[in-house]
Order: sequence, then C-alpha cells, then structure tokens
Amino acid sequence: MPELPEVESIALGLRPVLVGKRVARVCVGTPLVIRGPYRRRWRVFLAQLTGRRIERVTRRAKRLILTAEGGLALVFQLGMTGKFLLPNPQEGRTATPKHTHLILSFSDGMACLFVDPRRFGRVWCLRSLDPEAPDAVMEAAGLTPLGPEALDMDLKTFLARLRTGRPIKSLLLDQTRIAGLGNIYADESLWAACVHPARPASSLTRAEAAKLLRAIKAVLRRAIRAGGTTFSDFRNVYGEMGRFRPRLKVYGCQGQPCPRCGTTIRYLRASGRGTHICPHCQVR
Ligand SMILES: [Zn+2]
Repeated sequence: MPELPEVESIALGLRPVLVGKRVARVCVGTPLVIRGPYRRRWRVFLAQLTGRRIERVTRRAKRLILTAEGGLALVFQLGMTGKFLLPNPQEGRTATPKHTHLILSFSDGMACLFVDPRRFGRVWCLRSLDPEAPDAVMEAAGLTPLGPEALDMDLKTFLARLRTGRPIKSLLLDQTRIAGLGNIYADESLWAACVHPARPASSLTRAEAAKLLRAIKAVLRRAIRAGGTTFSDFRNVYGEMGRFRPRLKVYGCQGQPCPRCGTTIRYLRASGRGTHICPHCQVR
C-alpha cells in the first residue's frame, strides 16, 4: 500500500509534466471510483474541469491532489494498488492498460492514466480547494480528518500526540493523529529509534521521542530520495519500481540478522498488524 514516500514520488513525477497543461477531456471508465459531493453529478464537474489548466500537484498525507484553475480539484486516494501512468518519453504510450479507471487528456495530446487493479482507489471531485490548506474542503466532502504531516512535525506537537496509553505503533499508523506513515515506515522508524512497537506511547521519554521523530523524518526522506518502496504493486509514473526495498532494515527481513546487532529479526502481530522488530534493540 502506498505510504507517504510513494505518494510523494508520484507527485514529484507528475508535477513537472502536468502543471501548466490544459485539460482537454476527462474520461471515466469506472464511475465507482468517483467520490465526494459530485459523486452523482461527476459528468457536470468533469465538464467544468475541461479547458482549465492544472495549477498544482500536491500531496497531503497519502492523498494526491491535482488543482486546476478556479480551485477545482481532483483528490486521489490510491488504495492498495492505485497508480498513475504517463507516456514514457523513450517508448511513448502503446495500449491503455487493463484496469484504467480514469484518463486525463490534455490539449497537447498527452494523457495521464489512473490505473488500479484492485479497485480500492478513489477520486474526490472538489470545488474551492486551496492547495495550501486543503483539509477543510476535504473533510467537508467526507474525507477523513488528517493529523499533521509527519515530515513537518516539531517535537512539541509530537510529544503532545504521545500523551496516550495506546501502543506507539498503533498511534503512528493513525492518520488522524500523524499523517503519512503506514506499516513499512512505522516499523523502520521504530527500529531506527530502538523503540518496541507495543510500548505505550506515553512511556517514551522526551529523549526517546526526539530520537523517534528524527528517525521517522530520516526514514521518510531517504525513502523519497529512493523513489519509494515496491513490494508488489507500487510503480512510479513511468511504471518503474521504487528503489528503497533493499535498504529496509527490518520490514520484510524476518529471519535475517539485525543490521545493528546481529540478532535475528522477528515477525509478530502488534496492533493487529504484521510487525518486524529486533528483539535485542527494541526491548519492551
Ligand atoms: Zn538489533
């Protein structure tokens, strides 16, 4: 499932190509993917989008936001397997792949496809969206409220979020508290900071919290630089896999030695999720 670095990689890929382009046509293959207040009138909304330039491509948590002139916006939740495809400059576009649910065609003849084999991806058609502060409009349209961005969070905000008896991993995964982390980067960050995932969040000392916040940001930034992590489905906008997987330290590494101490990495369930820890570095 795409997390913050994967969605950021998609935004970084789409931005230089789409910004400034004028929408010529929007073709919806699967109306099921459309959500929000225009769910039943999406043809009207998408007709209004036609002729407008794309002004911004942004990311909020794991959502990708295309904003056009006049504050019209498409907000994508990629679900498990949602991805965007642009024509590869070397190869050009051949056939439209199976499971293409939405096609944005531009006045210069280029098209951007939204492809999602497992169909959990969704698109919200929204009006009056300010890309600098999109939350109010997204929430009014029924999208779940989001906590602060993991990459922007300061220690004071993080410490305030930790004042709960919930297990730290469950807190890190809760998008309404901290936005952007999923299972992969939560495990990687907890390992990097030597924190056991089942520890109550409130039991972390100030120094441990500071170390964990630094670890979260460092892991996310490294993953963004590597273009994200691909286990099965994630691809960037040119269909290429992320390069971060070989650099994961614990996630998916059960049975292998911990890169820090050599103890065998274990797989366990924590907060209902598969979790990877080093039992020596991360003591409960
Ligand atoms: Zn270890």
